[in-house]
Amino acid sequence: MKKNLVVIGYGGMGGWHTEKALKSDVVNLRGIYDIKAERRELARSRGIFAYDSFDAVLSDPEVDLVTVAIPNDAHPEVVIRALEAGKNAICEKPVAITSAELQTMIDAAHRSGKLFTVHQNRRWDVDFLAMKQLMKTGEIGELIRVESRIHGSRGIPSDWRGKKAYGGGMLYDWGVHLIDQILQLIDEKVRYVYCTLENITNDEVDDGFRLEITFESGKTAYVEVGTLNFIAMPRFYMKCKSGTALISDWREKTKVVRCKYWHESDVLPVETAAGLTKTMAPRDDVTTDTYELERPASDVHDFYRNVCRAIDGLEPQLVTHEQVMRVLKLIEAAFRSAETGARVDFE
Ligand code: NAD
Repeated sequence: MKKNLVVIGYGGMGGWHTEKALKSDVVNLRGIYDIKAERRELARSRGIFAYDSFDAVLSDPEVDLVTVAIPNDAHPEVVIRALEAGKNAICEKPVAITSAELQTMIDAAHRSGKLFTVHQNRRWDVDFLAMKQLMKTGEIGELIRVESRIHGSRGIPSDWRGKKAYGGGMLYDWGVHLIDQILQLIDEKVRYVYCTLENITNDEVDDGFRLEITFESGKTAYVEVGTLNFIAMPRFYMKCKSGTALISDWREKTKVVRCKYWHESDVLPVETAAGLTKTMAPRDDVTTDTYELERPASDVHDFYRNVCRAIDGLEPQLVTHEQVMRVLKLIEAAFRSAETGARVDFE
């Protein structure tokens, strides 16, 4: 049976959740609640029921599930109140600003016996799924390094995202998605992290960052977010033992170059700039295969499908407490690294 959902916070992302809920095969949109009267009125003008208070949501016995889509600093209190009122709760990312706050949310979920999860929707991004597919098929061999970048050129938004007290900054905003993806891709302990932050258009919070993650086996991942990049660097670059994959932009397919023959006796030196090189001589299609991967299938509704099946005990929740805690602790380690200028041990 469909679960009755109320979306808390009817801003940008709350609007997205309500739209998806209206098309969902697993949830009924019962209504929304926003702290601002004008947002409630806007919902009503669109034919969506709006509760007048959060208490009214919590005391409605028909409500099974709430999705909390409000500024980051306010997540813990609202999620904990929902769980304590016997509602299942989805929280937007980043789930909390500190791991200590997240622990209080997890404790509340255990006490209530209700489902609590986080909307890590970028696990359904097709660019990420293409990287995951390459790891699974092993067609370009063992991973050496993956680089994941998001570059924009509009600075950080001037709303709460630019303010520290609200949990603003790019490490929280985009970092939480990109780090979650990397930890999904590489199933190993992290040895250490090194991070530097950018403050180009905003002094209060980071408007970009560069994060190097080193895993137990020596595999590395690099995550970078920039908000003043008028030419964007590739979304994903994956270097493996028998090939390389590149996604120039999330709208593009994955380009793969796979090595067919390693040894070349007839490599000819090439002229580059003012000199000759054999080491950097490009390869041809005799020794490599170049091809594009089909875009993997993805349906973002699968997140809510999993939540509803997990509530009914039919499958485990995909976004687990342990995973979101690990990502938040890694973000904390990245902030410590940026502050001290040193590599920080992790796990
Ligand atoms: P927003 O500013 O557009 O909207 C927030 C809304 O919450 C506002 O309408 C505000 O009035 C309301 N609000 C504030 N405090 C409230 C409270 N205590 N109770 C009820 N309503 C309250 O922000 P947004 O862009 O929608 O972001 C909301 C959350 O969603 C953030 O945590 C953000 O990081 C997350 N987000 C996630 C994604 C994603 O892809 N998963 C994308 C964008 C935003």
